[in-house]
Amino acid sequence: MDITLTHSQISDAAEAAYKYALTVSGGENAHYIPYLANIDPGLLGLSVMLPDGTAFDFGDHTYRFGIESVSKVPTAVLVMRQYSPEILLQKIGADATGLPFNSIFAILLENDHPSTPLVNAGAISACSMVKPTGDSDAKWKAITDNITDLCGSAPELIDELYRSESATNFNNRAIAWLLKNYGRIYDDPDMSLDLYTRQCSLGITSSQLAAMAGTLAFGGRNPLTGKQVFDPAISPKITTLIATVGFYQNTGDWLYTSGIPAKSGVGGGVLGVLPGVLGIAAFAPPLDAAGNSVRAQAAVKFFMQKLGLGIMNGNNVTIVK
Ligand code: GLU
Repeated sequence: MDITLTHSQISDAAEAAYKYALTVSGGENAHYIPYLANIDPGLLGLSVMLPDGTAFDFGDHTYRFGIESVSKVPTAVLVMRQYSPEILLQKIGADATGLPFNSIFAILLENDHPSTPLVNAGAISACSMVKPTGDSDAKWKAITDNITDLCGSAPELIDELYRSESATNFNNRAIAWLLKNYGRIYDDPDMSLDLYTRQCSLGITSSQLAAMAGTLAFGGRNPLTGKQVFDPAISPKITTLIATVGFYQNTGDWLYTSGIPAKSGVGGGVLGVLPGVLGIAAFAPPLDAAGNSVRAQAAVKFFMQKLGLGIMNGNNVTIVK
């Protein structure tokens, strides 16, 4: 079916979704990272990005929150840019583990078989692959430059979050060294873990994340800067990774009920990619038991349902002014 949507229909749906999400309660801030536990739980931002660079933003869309696991998406893109989607598949993989994002058990179960760059083990492995090997500063620059390309503006490290995570990331330290044991880390394990921890501690706004989502949705072309950031062939690959594991062990439920591939982070962010149509991002700190933002989920789902959108619907969507 062909669907035509106007800018004002999209803007109205986003505003209604934002207002609806304000009425939704429940969940708790991530408590295992002290910085995140203390963020104002009432914050809520929602941003939508269209292919022509038109943005619709509501609520706390300029608030810089911890990107956390959503950072796994740009670094997976970076590895595909620096190597290729095929090498990412060989060295890390594209299978959901079906277990929590920080599972040690998953690594033990899959010791002979790679996982996905969108859970902690695969993300630390992805950081280890970033070039140039052995040079932490240059690797960090590659990671942040890539995020800047995708967003059209730079993220900023939240020092306090970085310190807070570095002081408490014992589980991730175990993951980094287990990966080393199984030959699934491709640079110094401690350096790779530090890069991963730092990228999780980047501050980002929902406006920036929606622009990143747009770049992913529009074949690698940043809708704000017009820059072709990556080969269009990477777009379906990263969207596949997001669709299969973006919501941790609840990914199937999420895609089934929302219709949009999305990646969440324990900072409360959600980035959603509707290929060729739009990018969307929402942010609200309280999380459900799987670590996904309660209000961000509510906002994105409401928006999708209101407009009758869904990646599996088979509709041909045209956006007009
Ligand atoms: N830095 C967090 C961790 O590694 C990110 C987790 C997440 O957002 O899923 O535990």
